[in-house]
Amino acid sequence: MAESALEQLLRDLVRIPSPNPPGDCRDIARYIASWLDVPGVEIRTLHPPEKVMAESVIATLGDGSPPVIMLHAHIDTVPVAADEAERWSRNPFEPWVADEAIYGKGSVDDKGVLAAMMMAFRDLAQEAGALAGTVVLVGAAEEETGGQLGTRWLAESGHLPPCDFIVVGEQTANRVAVAHKGVLRATVRTRGRSVHATNPDRGVNAITAMAKLVSALEVYHRELRGRKHPLVGNPSCNVGTIQGGSTANAVPDTCEVRLDRRMVPREDPDVVKEELEAVVRSVDVSPATAEIGEFLVSSWFESDLATPLGQTFLRLAGEVGEAGPVGYLPGSDAKHLMGVARGDMVVFGPGSYEEAHAADEHVSLPELRDCQGVLSRFLKVVLSA
Ligand SMILES: [Zn+2]
Repeated sequence: MAESALEQLLRDLVRIPSPNPPGDCRDIARYIASWLDVPGVEIRTLHPPEKVMAESVIATLGDGSPPVIMLHAHIDTVPVAADEAERWSRNPFEPWVADEAIYGKGSVDDKGVLAAMMMAFRDLAQEAGALAGTVVLVGAAEEETGGQLGTRWLAESGHLPPCDFIVVGEQTANRVAVAHKGVLRATVRTRGRSVHATNPDRGVNAITAMAKLVSALEVYHRELRGRKHPLVGNPSCNVGTIQGGSTANAVPDTCEVRLDRRMVPREDPDVVKEELEAVVRSVDVSPATAEIGEFLVSSWFESDLATPLGQTFLRLAGEVGEAGPVGYLPGSDAKHLMGVARGDMVVFGPGSYEEAHAADEHVSLPELRDCQGVLSRFLKVVLSA
């Protein structure tokens, strides 16, 4: 069978490496910009002042009138890890086809859905007469390192318009995902007094104090199981690292743990901070002292599919398979788009996130074609004048 334009495009995208770190997206952004440059399309490539190589691309078709539809995919990939390179059957940047799938770095995360979006966008641009609305395609840098200098920067600098419907392309097996969790990170520190271990009772042991706090955090984690979200499960609290002391023959005077508190949609990060502070306060560690701080928040996202655009998208996705709605377990750039979403937002794309970030990464061709079909039909249905 002859290779389709969609397959060819995806192969070209995989052949342009964009691993992050370092996050150099200039070549791929420029390729996308020139591929989408057809009459009627306005193209911009943009980077934040702090990182010139973090180039994103925005293509706009239409005069800005509503409904404004955004198709968003990230254009960076994770790097090929040292222990991963030898597990690839072939060169990860020289894509190959086997068993109805395309293999290569980024083929499923996120260049597959990116190719489907580009095809749907350009087909519309080339076919459309008058358009009743606007479609914006965003190819975003920096997702794999958190999106601060990619989608978040684009949104906060006013480069993205308010949107009536947003599709964030990630791996959902073509199901319509309408929620993912957020994360709050924090550091807990205890301080005691160091003395020689021959007479530890003269000192104050910071590790013993921390042990009590870690136990209290575990109790808190178990309590969180009661707060179940219908699509993404329960919030959680995990103590991920611990550091303290310098030698076995001294009483340690400091100890530090770092924790990861997953938030389900609608949890207020400020309330979560207060809960964690209350857990720390509730434990008597005297004469040691304890404090919690260095909070880092990455938001959740949720959409209720209450709008007609949301319902239309769900119906069209339902024509190619089980559409859901479902939750999405990893995070995505959707969290940075809450401020520009004035309607529904969904995460949607072929493949599974479990196939991403792995050796012999691949995307199923039937799923990829279905994805493009859904996106094309959606744009035609909601934007034809
Ligand atoms: Zn991704």
